[in-house]
Amino acid sequence: MVKVCTLLVSLLVVLAILYDGGSAAEQEPRLLGTTENKLGIANWLKENGHEFIVSSDKEGPNSVFQKEIETADVLITTPFHPGYLTADLIERAKNLKLCITAGVGSDHIDLNAANKKKITVAEVSGSNVVSVAEHVVMSILLLVRNFVPAHEMIERGDWQVSQVARNAFDLEGKVVGTIGAGRIGYRVLQRLLPFDPKELLYYDYAPLPANAEQAVKARRVEDLAEFLSQCDVVTVNCPLHEGTRGLINKETLKHFKKGAWLVNTARGAICDRIAVKEAVESGQLNGYSGDVWDVQPAPRDHPWRTIKNPLGGGNGMVPHYSGTTLDAQARYANGTKDILDRWLKGEEQNPANVIVINGDYATKAYHPTNLPLDGQRKQT
Ligand code: NAD
Repeated sequence: MVKVCTLLVSLLVVLAILYDGGSAAEQEPRLLGTTENKLGIANWLKENGHEFIVSSDKEGPNSVFQKEIETADVLITTPFHPGYLTADLIERAKNLKLCITAGVGSDHIDLNAANKKKITVAEVSGSNVVSVAEHVVMSILLLVRNFVPAHEMIERGDWQVSQVARNAFDLEGKVVGTIGAGRIGYRVLQRLLPFDPKELLYYDYAPLPANAEQAVKARRVEDLAEFLSQCDVVTVNCPLHEGTRGLINKETLKHFKKGAWLVNTARGAICDRIAVKEAVESGQLNGYSGDVWDVQPAPRDHPWRTIKNPLGGGNGMVPHYSGTTLDAQARYANGTKDILDRWLKGEEQNPANVIVINGDYATKAYHPTNLPLDGQRKQT
């Protein structure tokens, strides 16, 4: 078990950067990840004498985030409205000892800089992996079956079956591959198996345990170009780090089968913004779908909002919400409280939640060098 050091002082400053829920959060208290509902921990922190600052204001030197980080002991952020904790901000954060990601994915924190200052970074591992895996399957289906243009046609009042059927296919018999076969990627493979794909592939520097591989009948391909060239559908399920930033770019897109579909619910910056746009517009990709953007909130003119393939479809983009279903929010709010509670009491953390600690990476999933792992790993 991993022991996380704690503070002896009772009054802490806990800063949380969350998204605004507006009237939806007032009407729906289960929207826990909002500035209004404060992960359900405001009273608990107050009763324990801690100061809890909650805001969505995160950009620029005068933002609440960039000002309050200078005195915060604990920072809570969420990937859905990321407070980007850069090396510069970490340098200015004199009291910061613990960063908790309410959700999964801590790439918005400069983990190398956190290591240098021995700041612990923890996330609520597994809290939304089913939520995302379901979204991936939905995104694959809506691209392969050309769903969005068909629905838009109905809303317009039109009815021209051939216009949408000419680019609609079955998932059965296709080759689907995941980049990353961790908690989410593996659950995607499990959920795809009943569709009777031609083959399920995975590209991951860590091989699955043999029994896990056999259970989903998946084959590991070690070379990225070789992997991409075999897939009809590619789904991205690895973390964003120095080894995956821009992994899908102009060069790697050339290895895709012409007309393949790409789904990315991992992190926007794993795919090059312009290269993806050009690939969809040229028909090299038949479509792109997902919920993650290279900057969030995405600017109004972000090309992924409106890209279309030559037949007018191929766009399944939505805001970052696959991992923030109400079910997931309950899990990551509870998990955030649990991490904080353990830390306040000086208790051991669940090792699966710890990303960096005591100046080093606790998980190989984020390790920048991404060297092949020796032996096999445990499937969680
Ligand atoms: P995980 O740690 O269980 O699995 C990640 C897998 O990626 C590991 O098996 C790791 O070996 C592999 N990997 C790392 N670098 C790789 C590389 N260069 N090439 C191939 N494989 C590589 O994580 P998870 O719970 O499955 O989550 C994966 C990612 O999904 C998160 O890091 C996060 O960015 C994203 N995510 C998105 C949402 C959302 O709402 N859209 C929610 C949760 C997580």
